[in-house]
Amino acid sequence: MASARPFLRLVPSTAEEARPSQWFCGHCGSVTNEIPAPVARVCGDCELGLLMEASADLVPQPREPFLIVDKSLSVRALSAEAQRFLAVGEGDAVERPVTELLTPADAEAASADAFAAAIMHAAAGDDELRRLTVRPVNVFGVRMAMRVGVCGPPRAALLVLE
Ligand SMILES: [Zn+2]
Repeated sequence: MASARPFLRLVPSTAEEARPSQWFCGHCGSVTNEIPAPVARVCGDCELGLLMEASADLVPQPREPFLIVDKSLSVRALSAEAQRFLAVGEGDAVERPVTELLTPADAEAASADAFAAAIMHAAAGDDELRRLTVRPVNVFGVRMAMRVGVCGPPRAALLVLE
């Protein structure tokens, strides 16, 4: 009799060598090694954010600001660290286009396309981790690396500023 393997992957992939995933809080970024029950997804550390799953190499490290963005490029959530860094409250950021907060570091049209494409691919469930250089719209002279990949549920793009 074939034994059923536990199926913990967020996104089915044809690639067998799937990267390990991890759960993290969408508010404070706290990482947990426990798999939350569907009804108990509120973070035990801050009791504010919902736990989300992403690949372990994408999950925000302590103090890395991050945003969760849907495939229409609207901000769904942003971490407390991102609210401080971008000087925007969650209520003012959610449902705004992410391009009002972050923009590609250089102004070429191709970069804008790559920025939008990376987010849309991730939000559509693409398992690939992409790296871009961005700058906050309201802060001049700051360029930073950003990694983008899929997180969920619900499925969305996770943008982590490094
Ligand atoms: Zn939390």
